[in-house]
Amino acid sequence: MNVKQVINVLYKIADVIEDNKLYLTELDAAIGDGDHGLNLSKGFNAVKDKLTTVNTDNISEILRIVGMALVSSVGGASGPLYGTAFIKASMAVKDKVEINVNDFYIMLEEALDGIKMRGKSSLGEKTMIDAIEPALNQLKIDISNNLDTIECLEHLQSEALKGAEGTKDIVATKGRASYLGERSLGHQDAGATSSYLIFKTIYDEVKSSKGMID
Ligand code: ADP
Ligand code: MG
Repeated sequence: MNVKQVINVLYKIADVIEDNKLYLTELDAAIGDGDHGLNLSKGFNAVKDKLTTVNTDNISEILRIVGMALVSSVGGASGPLYGTAFIKASMAVKDKVEINVNDFYIMLEEALDGIKMRGKSSLGEKTMIDAIEPALNQLKIDISNNLDTIECLEHLQSEALKGAEGTKDIVATKGRASYLGERSLGHQDAGATSSYLIFKTIYDEVKSSKGMID
Protein backbone atom coordinates (compact mmCIF):
# COMPACT_ATOMS: atom_id res chain seq x y z
CA MET A 1 0.00 0.00 0.00
CA ASN A 2 1.46 3.39 -0.93
CA VAL A 3 0.86 6.85 0.54
CA LYS A 4 -2.04 7.65 -1.75
CA GLN A 5 -3.81 4.45 -0.73
CA VAL A 6 -3.11 5.05 2.96
CA ILE A 7 -4.61 8.54 2.63
CA ASN A 8 -7.62 7.07 0.85
CA VAL A 9 -8.19 4.62 3.72
CA LEU A 10 -7.88 7.48 6.23
CA TYR A 11 -10.59 9.43 4.39
CA LYS A 12 -12.83 6.34 4.47
CA ILE A 13 -12.23 5.97 8.20
CA ALA A 14 -13.29 9.60 8.63
CA ASP A 15 -16.50 8.86 6.63
CA VAL A 16 -17.30 5.76 8.69
CA ILE A 17 -16.76 7.64 11.95
CA GLU A 18 -19.10 10.36 10.67
CA ASP A 19 -21.72 7.75 9.70
CA ASN A 20 -21.46 6.17 13.16
CA LYS A 21 -21.21 9.37 15.14
CA LEU A 22 -24.62 8.96 16.80
CA TYR A 23 -24.19 5.23 17.42
CA LEU A 24 -20.83 5.74 19.15
CA THR A 25 -22.22 8.64 21.12
CA GLU A 26 -25.20 6.53 22.27
CA LEU A 27 -22.88 3.74 23.42
CA ASP A 28 -20.84 6.28 25.37
CA ALA A 29 -24.00 7.91 26.78
CA ALA A 30 -25.01 4.65 28.49
CA ILE A 31 -21.86 4.36 30.61
CA GLY A 32 -19.82 7.48 29.91
CA ASP A 33 -20.58 11.07 29.03
CA GLY A 34 -22.02 10.58 25.55
CA ASP A 35 -19.40 12.29 23.47
CA HIS A 36 -17.28 9.55 21.88
CA GLY A 37 -18.82 9.89 18.42
CA LEU A 38 -18.65 13.66 18.59
CA ASN A 39 -15.03 13.55 19.78
CA LEU A 40 -13.92 11.26 16.98
CA SER A 41 -15.92 13.16 14.39
CA LYS A 42 -14.18 16.34 15.41
CA GLY A 43 -10.83 14.56 15.42
CA PHE A 44 -11.21 13.01 11.99
CA ASN A 45 -12.51 16.25 10.51
CA ALA A 46 -9.27 17.83 11.72
CA VAL A 47 -7.41 14.90 10.15
CA LYS A 48 -9.19 15.50 6.82
CA ASP A 49 -8.27 19.20 6.93
CA LYS A 50 -4.62 18.33 7.46
CA LEU A 51 -4.61 15.66 4.76
CA THR A 52 -5.82 18.08 2.11
CA THR A 53 -2.66 20.12 2.52
CA VAL A 54 0.01 17.43 2.91
CA ASN A 55 2.45 16.71 0.17
CA THR A 56 4.66 13.75 0.97
CA ASP A 57 5.10 10.17 -0.16
CA ASN A 58 6.28 9.18 3.31
CA ILE A 59 3.69 7.04 5.12
CA SER A 60 5.31 7.64 8.49
CA GLU A 61 4.89 11.40 8.06
CA ILE A 62 1.20 10.97 7.16
CA LEU A 63 0.54 8.87 10.26
CA ARG A 64 2.36 11.38 12.43
CA ILE A 65 0.23 14.21 11.07
CA VAL A 66 -2.94 12.17 11.74
CA GLY A 67 -1.83 11.47 15.30
CA MET A 68 -0.98 15.10 16.00
CA ALA A 69 -4.34 16.24 14.57
CA LEU A 70 -6.21 13.80 16.84
CA VAL A 71 -4.24 14.74 19.96
CA SER A 72 -4.70 18.45 19.40
CA SER A 73 -8.35 18.52 18.31
CA VAL A 74 -10.10 16.05 20.64
CA GLY A 75 -10.84 16.98 24.23
CA GLY A 76 -11.87 13.51 25.44
CA ALA A 77 -9.65 10.60 26.45
CA SER A 78 -9.94 8.98 23.04
CA GLY A 79 -8.08 11.82 21.25
CA PRO A 80 -4.78 11.43 23.06
CA LEU A 81 -5.19 7.62 23.03
CA TYR A 82 -5.86 7.26 19.27
CA GLY A 83 -3.43 10.12 18.62
CA THR A 84 -0.68 8.31 20.49
CA ALA A 85 -1.56 5.13 18.60
CA PHE A 86 -1.05 6.84 15.22
CA ILE A 87 2.14 8.58 16.35
CA LYS A 88 3.62 5.31 17.62
CA ALA A 89 2.53 3.54 14.42
CA SER A 90 4.25 6.30 12.47
CA MET A 91 7.51 5.65 14.32
CA ALA A 92 7.32 1.97 13.37
CA VAL A 93 7.42 2.67 9.61
CA LYS A 94 10.04 5.41 9.36
CA ASP A 95 10.84 6.45 5.77
CA LYS A 96 8.48 3.88 4.22
CA VAL A 97 6.76 4.69 0.94
CA GLU A 98 5.04 1.27 0.83
CA ILE A 99 3.65 -0.92 3.60
CA ASN A 100 2.55 -4.55 3.61
CA VAL A 101 0.68 -6.63 6.17
CA ASN A 102 3.86 -7.29 8.17
CA ASP A 103 4.52 -3.58 8.46
CA PHE A 104 0.89 -3.12 9.44
CA TYR A 105 1.31 -5.69 12.21
CA ILE A 106 4.36 -3.89 13.59
CA MET A 107 2.49 -0.57 13.39
CA LEU A 108 -0.41 -2.02 15.36
CA GLU A 109 1.86 -3.58 17.94
CA GLU A 110 3.45 -0.19 18.58
CA ALA A 111 0.07 1.54 18.52
CA LEU A 112 -1.33 -0.83 21.15
CA ASP A 113 1.75 -0.34 23.31
CA GLY A 114 1.24 3.41 23.04
CA ILE A 115 -2.41 3.19 24.09
CA LYS A 116 -1.55 0.99 27.08
CA MET A 117 1.22 3.32 28.17
CA ARG A 118 -0.81 6.49 27.75
CA GLY A 119 -3.96 4.99 29.31
CA LYS A 120 -2.14 2.95 31.96
CA SER A 121 -4.52 0.22 30.91
CA SER A 122 -4.49 -3.40 29.87
CA LEU A 123 -6.72 -6.15 28.46
CA GLY A 124 -9.99 -6.79 30.33
CA GLU A 125 -10.72 -3.27 31.56
CA LYS A 126 -13.56 -2.54 29.12
CA THR A 127 -11.70 -0.23 26.76
CA MET A 128 -10.59 -0.08 23.12
CA ILE A 129 -7.78 -2.47 24.12
CA ASP A 130 -10.35 -5.28 24.38
CA ALA A 131 -11.00 -4.95 20.64
CA ILE A 132 -7.44 -4.23 19.50
CA GLU A 133 -5.39 -6.77 21.45
CA PRO A 134 -7.25 -9.97 20.47
CA ALA A 135 -7.38 -8.75 16.86
CA LEU A 136 -3.65 -8.15 16.89
CA ASN A 137 -2.97 -11.57 18.42
CA GLN A 138 -5.00 -13.16 15.62
CA LEU A 139 -3.08 -11.16 13.01
CA LYS A 140 0.20 -12.49 14.38
CA ILE A 141 -1.06 -16.07 14.07
CA ASP A 142 -2.45 -15.48 10.57
CA ILE A 143 0.79 -13.91 9.32
CA SER A 144 2.84 -16.79 10.69
CA ASN A 145 0.45 -19.18 8.91
CA ASN A 146 1.01 -17.26 5.66
CA LEU A 147 -2.64 -16.36 5.17
CA ASP A 148 -3.19 -13.86 2.39
CA THR A 149 -3.57 -10.22 3.33
CA ILE A 150 -7.32 -10.01 2.78
CA GLU A 151 -7.93 -13.05 4.96
CA CYS A 152 -5.64 -11.58 7.64
CA LEU A 153 -7.62 -8.33 7.59
CA GLU A 154 -10.95 -10.13 7.60
CA HIS A 155 -9.96 -11.97 10.78
CA LEU A 156 -8.55 -8.78 12.25
CA GLN A 157 -11.92 -7.04 12.04
CA SER A 158 -13.98 -10.08 13.08
CA GLU A 159 -11.81 -10.59 16.18
CA ALA A 160 -12.12 -6.88 16.96
CA LEU A 161 -15.91 -7.14 16.68
CA LYS A 162 -15.91 -10.15 19.00
CA GLY A 163 -13.73 -8.21 21.42
CA ALA A 164 -15.94 -5.13 21.25
CA GLU A 165 -19.09 -7.19 21.84
CA GLY A 166 -17.30 -9.02 24.64
CA THR A 167 -16.89 -5.76 26.55
CA LYS A 168 -20.56 -6.16 27.54
CA ASP A 169 -19.42 -8.85 29.97
CA ILE A 170 -16.65 -6.77 31.51
CA VAL A 171 -16.90 -4.47 34.54
CA ALA A 172 -15.08 -1.28 33.62
CA THR A 173 -11.94 -0.45 35.57
CA LYS A 174 -10.63 2.30 33.28
CA GLY A 175 -12.19 5.39 31.74
CA ARG A 176 -15.41 7.10 32.78
CA ALA A 177 -17.37 3.82 32.76
CA SER A 178 -15.27 2.70 35.74
CA TYR A 179 -17.19 5.22 37.91
CA LEU A 180 -20.24 2.96 37.43
CA GLY A 181 -18.53 -0.23 38.57
CA GLU A 182 -20.89 -3.22 38.24
CA ARG A 183 -23.49 -1.03 36.53
CA SER A 184 -21.23 -0.90 33.48
CA LEU A 185 -22.04 -4.57 32.85
CA GLY A 186 -24.27 -5.32 29.86
CA HIS A 187 -23.10 -2.28 27.89
CA GLN A 188 -20.68 -2.32 24.98
CA ASP A 189 -17.66 -0.03 25.23
CA ALA A 190 -17.72 2.87 22.77
CA GLY A 191 -13.95 2.99 22.19
CA ALA A 192 -13.75 -0.75 21.52
CA THR A 193 -16.54 -0.25 18.98
CA SER A 194 -14.75 2.60 17.20
CA SER A 195 -11.58 0.50 17.05
CA TYR A 196 -13.57 -2.30 15.42
CA LEU A 197 -15.06 0.16 12.92
CA ILE A 198 -11.59 1.38 11.99
CA PHE A 199 -10.35 -2.18 11.37
CA LYS A 200 -13.51 -3.01 9.41
CA THR A 201 -12.96 0.02 7.17
CA ILE A 202 -9.36 -1.00 6.49
CA TYR A 203 -10.55 -4.50 5.56
CA ASP A 204 -13.39 -3.23 3.35
CA GLU A 205 -11.09 -0.81 1.53
CA VAL A 206 -8.30 -3.29 0.90
CA LYS A 207 -10.81 -5.92 -0.21
CA SER A 208 -12.57 -3.59 -2.62
CA SER A 209 -9.34 -2.44 -4.25
CA LYS A 210 -7.07 -5.45 -4.47
CA GLY A 211 -4.39 -3.31 -6.12
CA MET A 212 -3.52 -2.02 -2.68
CA ILE A 213 -1.70 -5.13 -1.66
CA ASP A 214 1.51 -6.58 -2.93
P1 ADP B 1 -14.01 10.53 27.43
O1 ADP B 1 -14.00 9.26 28.20
O2 ADP B 1 -12.98 11.49 27.91
O3 ADP B 1 -15.36 11.13 27.31
P2 ADP B 1 -14.33 9.40 24.79
O4 ADP B 1 -15.76 9.28 25.15
O5 ADP B 1 -14.02 10.03 23.48
O6 ADP B 1 -13.52 10.15 25.93
O7 ADP B 1 -13.66 7.96 24.75
C1 ADP B 1 -14.05 6.96 25.65
C2 ADP B 1 -13.37 5.67 25.28
O8 ADP B 1 -11.97 5.76 25.48
C3 ADP B 1 -13.81 4.50 26.14
O9 ADP B 1 -14.97 3.90 25.58
C4 ADP B 1 -12.61 3.58 26.15
O10 ADP B 1 -12.64 2.64 25.08
C5 ADP B 1 -11.45 4.52 25.90
N1 ADP B 1 -10.67 4.73 27.12
C6 ADP B 1 -10.95 5.55 28.14
N2 ADP B 1 -9.96 5.50 29.08
C7 ADP B 1 -9.04 4.60 28.61
C8 ADP B 1 -7.79 4.10 29.09
N3 ADP B 1 -7.28 4.52 30.25
N4 ADP B 1 -7.14 3.18 28.34
C9 ADP B 1 -7.64 2.79 27.14
N5 ADP B 1 -8.80 3.22 26.65
C10 ADP B 1 -9.49 4.11 27.36
MG1 MG C 1 -16.96 10.18 26.45
